[in-house]
Amino acid sequence: MTLTPDLLIQNVKPVTDTKKGGKKVDLRIRGGKIDSVGDGLKPEPNEEVYDAEGAYVSPGWFDMHVHLREPGQEHKETIRSGCEAAAFGGFTEVACMPNTDPAIHTRDVVEYIKKQSSELPVEVYPIGAVTRERKGESLTEMSDMKEGGAVAFSDDGDPVWNSQMMRLALEYSAMLGVPVINHEEDLDLSRPGHMHEGEISARLGLDGTPAIAEEVMIARDILLAEFTGGHIHVAHISTAGAVDLVRKAKSDGIRVTTEVCPHHFDLTDAEVHARGFDTNVKMHPPLRTEEDVEAMIKGLKDGTIDAICTDHAPHAEEEKEVEFIYAPNGIIGLETAWSISVMRLLQPGHLELNQLIDKLAFQPRKILGLNLPEIKEGEPANLTLFNTDESWKFDEREVRSKSKNSPWLGQELTGRAVAIYNKGRFVENRLRN
Ligand SMILES: [Zn+2]
Repeated sequence: MTLTPDLLIQNVKPVTDTKKGGKKVDLRIRGGKIDSVGDGLKPEPNEEVYDAEGAYVSPGWFDMHVHLREPGQEHKETIRSGCEAAAFGGFTEVACMPNTDPAIHTRDVVEYIKKQSSELPVEVYPIGAVTRERKGESLTEMSDMKEGGAVAFSDDGDPVWNSQMMRLALEYSAMLGVPVINHEEDLDLSRPGHMHEGEISARLGLDGTPAIAEEVMIARDILLAEFTGGHIHVAHISTAGAVDLVRKAKSDGIRVTTEVCPHHFDLTDAEVHARGFDTNVKMHPPLRTEEDVEAMIKGLKDGTIDAICTDHAPHAEEEKEVEFIYAPNGIIGLETAWSISVMRLLQPGHLELNQLIDKLAFQPRKILGLNLPEIKEGEPANLTLFNTDESWKFDEREVRSKSKNSPWLGQELTGRAVAIYNKGRFVENRLRN
């Protein structure tokens, strides 16, 4: 990735959490910072020029829930390939989960990830494990990891099932000013579920993961957050009951936030049958029902659901090409999050453009207590350029991730992130087909 410190971006429409994108402007970037925002800026010598042709521009998007697989499972994804997928999807920054090998459970691993990503245009923020080796038995050195660059704590991949560990983690999180993110699943209720427990799982004769397995754990965490004063962030929310619990807790003033993945507001458990047990519709939490999808959209609209994340979870082809019950959970999502959000939330009018950008660029940083990038003179240029109407086909050649486990592969999508600018680097996302 080449350095592009001096660049003139012409004809972009700025969007923020409150502005929907008005008239076109030009952005001059010098040394990686926004030098000027104006109308009809003329190219200067030694300056690269990019005509955005009316694309929108917003502060760079932030995906607060990705699995980059490095260290330990580089055949699925590396920090580099994951960041290429992120850039293609319009994300300038990501926060990566600790279920690597070794887990992100010491400051050394946190610093290794920061170092591996330092030259890339996408900024990577490690999320440290709550417990050593994510086993749920003893706490990690949270404050040491925070000093090394960890922005939150989670045992994601697995829940923090031990209530005493969660209590202690929330107490520390309150002191450190960072959230604890929990994969909300009561394993005794959910195992050995392969899909959502309901009519369809019963018909197919598959063991299901009931909604209550997620809701019981969220209820516990809300109580512990209230008790400790800590901040619980509910990972990848997926059931109507879970949204109700978070809505109620928020109205009670408890420090709880949550996120939703595009697959949970786009697809239902009917896909397992319709697609003939395609392992690319197997994930945790599983695809739920139409009623749950509606609850996700309602939660996004009324602000109960703060952010959109992908839970980008790459798995190699040979790992997913097995019988449904043996396949690992998870799908890639960085490349398609924007299009699915446009098609399911923006086009039907559930969210306005600025509300969608709020959930992709502003809320994740607010939850993690990070600075909000601004499109303003003197600020570092951290930008996503995107449209809402371009049709494109997400075929295999467009996958930037090392893995191809996506339920949207081969589909015609609408809306695309055409470029990002971050850390002094401009990345244009040209289609390959
Ligand atoms: Zn998870």
